[in-house]
Amino acid sequence: MPMDLRVGDVLETKKNHPCGGNTFEVLRVGMDFRIRCTTCDKQLWIERPKLEKRVKKVSREEPAETE
Ligand SMILES: [Zn+2]
Repeated sequence: MPMDLRVGDVLETKKNHPCGGNTFEVLRVGMDFRIRCTTCDKQLWIERPKLEKRVKKVSREEPAETE
């Protein structure tokens, strides 16, 4: 089962980025993922299987309730 990862999710990874940060925002999903390091702002491509292995935690902002 593929991990449920969506655009906008913030991922905490086991391995730190060279800048020392370990949280990444998902910009694009698919066979390859486009993610952005939230610490240094660098964007990178990563294959889904590699990314899934590195993810420790997924944070998702729930949409605000509307009346
Ligand atoms: Zn970084």
